[in-house]
Amino acid sequence: RTVYVNGDWVPEEAATISVFDRGFLMADGVYEVVTVLEGKLVDFAGHCRRLHRSLSELDIASPHTEEEWLQLQRDLVHRNRLREGLVYLQVTRGAEDRDFAWSEGLTPGVVMFTQARSLVDNPLVERGLDIITIDDLRWQRRDIKTVQLLYSSMGKMMAKRAGAHDAWMVEDGLVTEGTSNNAYIIAGRRLITRQAGHAILQGITRTAVLALAAETGLELEERPFTVAEAQAADEAFVTSATTFVMPVVTVDGVKIGDGQPGPMARKLREHYLQQARDAAI
Ligand code: PMP
Repeated sequence: RTVYVNGDWVPEEAATISVFDRGFLMADGVYEVVTVLEGKLVDFAGHCRRLHRSLSELDIASPHTEEEWLQLQRDLVHRNRLREGLVYLQVTRGAEDRDFAWSEGLTPGVVMFTQARSLVDNPLVERGLDIITIDDLRWQRRDIKTVQLLYSSMGKMMAKRAGAHDAWMVEDGLVTEGTSNNAYIIAGRRLITRQAGHAILQGITRTAVLALAAETGLELEERPFTVAEAQAADEAFVTSATTFVMPVVTVDGVKIGDGQPGPMARKLREHYLQQARDAAI
């Protein structure tokens, strides 16, 4: 693969970053994952907007404009002849001698690479996910998409070791989100998901799926829900850029509905995929 590192296109084996990069030493950086379908970027504008917001919350100046980011990502996709998969993009504050305080105006570090993956044909869609719940021990600004992913990684491993697919995190008795996705339940005609705020990452897929709720025949309720409420729901699912809408069939071993992926989740996935393909650039 060809990867992008601080202005250069290089073979992945030859790519290097400084050991003093604050992204590496302090997790002082942010990232985005943009899905590629049929060689095109899905919801590029949404991801770019969130990237700029994350950077601005951390007082890092964006090294590129929206048009430049688009050019760079398209270039990367073409160089790697990527048809389906993702673009990973990371911006760190920059490199300097290690200290907690940073110097103003460091030159940000930029890394981009692709991963080829079959995303649309995912065997888990027919099976649905088994979810465990864990305490949400992350920091209080989960709306900023930082590279500080240790607890989310630990959560995913806890789920794997428990024989499940993923974990939902719980704070004050209420579900915040999945380790790398937003969490939803459906009760009757009501689609329930936690409201945007500092407690969760505002998923780009979440925004797109919520916009499709009405035409799917669902009434939107943006509020937190409990684990017991999820276990008693008719359906549950998660969303993320690379999994789209993914059904959830058990939470802590309790079947959701009849324990099969639900019809509304299926409908939402179809609607989302159609819309995503149509709007990809
Ligand atoms: N929440 C968390 C904690 C995530 O890591 C992600 C994916 N990076 C999401 C939600 C979903 O966001 P998106 O739909 O933009 O992929």
